[in-house]
Amino acid sequence: MDHSKQTQYSQNEKKDAGASSSVLNGHFDGMAKRPAGGTGRAATAAAAQPPGAESSSHRPAASVMESWREERTRSVEDNEMSLPSLAAAYTTILRGLGEDPQRQGLLKTPWRAATAMQFFTKGYQEKIIDVLNDAIFDEDHDEMVIVKDIDMFSMCEHHLVPIFGRVHIGYLPNKRVLGLSKLARIVEIYSRRLQVQERLTKQIAVAITEALQPTGVGVVIEATHMCMVMRGVQKMNSKTVTSTMLGVFREDPKTRDEFLTLIRS
Ligand SMILES: [Zn+2]
Repeated sequence: MDHSKQTQYSQNEKKDAGASSSVLNGHFDGMAKRPAGGTGRAATAAAAQPPGAESSSHRPAASVMESWREERTRSVEDNEMSLPSLAAAYTTILRGLGEDPQRQGLLKTPWRAATAMQFFTKGYQEKIIDVLNDAIFDEDHDEMVIVKDIDMFSMCEHHLVPIFGRVHIGYLPNKRVLGLSKLARIVEIYSRRLQVQERLTKQIAVAITEALQPTGVGVVIEATHMCMVMRGVQKMNSKTVTSTMLGVFREDPKTRDEFLTLIRS
């Protein structure tokens, strides 16, 4: 296949690939499921080979797809209701750290910390399907779509400290395309939850696969884990790189290389 005419957008351009075409009033209920084996790989960039596809995992489609149809686990009302108990928990943490929660500078800290934590995890308040319903377009477009450098801020589920970095997404459309800013929304929803980088990478790729039924999808995330940097496990400037390749991105080395070259350029 010749994809020499790839379209490449940077996240800043916010070019809406589907603006001129008809909106698919889609719910995804009627869509055929297709198997999505994923593969994630982690490596510290300093020592790393370039991210690429491996076919080490062939998970049954159903278990991977669950995340796509998941229910919203938290509402804005839930936030209000749980704020006092969250704040009380932070008071306990302050005491446990040897601090005096009554100290002037800390008086409002439990409430601030609780509110901040709710914000950092606001991805639980949203479902991917709600974001995408009006954003998928039918278009006669079969060139590789690349979106590079989507900012990502997440929280490590093992230590509750930040993971941050950049997400690169590419897909080869099979008629359906997605407004490009929506790719960033998918990243935002999944990353604003407690995460591990490998799962985040896979969830983004699977969501795009489910929504667009493309010929292939590639997602690469380069991220810094503060739990590793601050404990000296990882150097400040080294990054953890994960990738998930689905469909033709996994099966065809040429397509995959094209994607990996484009996101580095
Ligand atoms: Zn961690």
